[in-house]
Amino acid sequence: MGIDPDFERDRSVVEEHDGHDVWGPVDEPERLGVHGTHVAVDFDACVGDGACLRDCPVDVFDWVETPGHPASEVKADPAREDACIDCMLCVDVCPVDAIDVDASRVRRFAADGGPESE
Ligand code: SF4
Repeated sequence: MGIDPDFERDRSVVEEHDGHDVWGPVDEPERLGVHGTHVAVDFDACVGDGACLRDCPVDVFDWVETPGHPASEVKADPAREDACIDCMLCVDVCPVDAIDVDASRVRRFAADGGPESE
């Protein structure tokens, strides 16, 4: 199953990783949640294919090791989501629909009292 594009309604931010939010639940190593808000990657759906790393024109993603996760032991981490230019290539090439890109989500999250409004 791919990422739920409405995850911000069903999940909460539980931690920060490498400068971006992580939306839970998280129960390592089996459940890793959704990483990122503008560029969101469902780590529990990600199979470590790498198409997004290859195709992103502004190098948003880094590999992160996730030993013991049932889907794959590496994930595409949106380490530089602020650089995203919303080209949607990563969304199109991901074989398991693990990525959702929505620049307005950051503003909605901030309006709802997220960290950006503090
Ligand atoms: S939408 Fe485009 S620029 Fe943004 S992370 Fe995906 S591939 Fe990179």
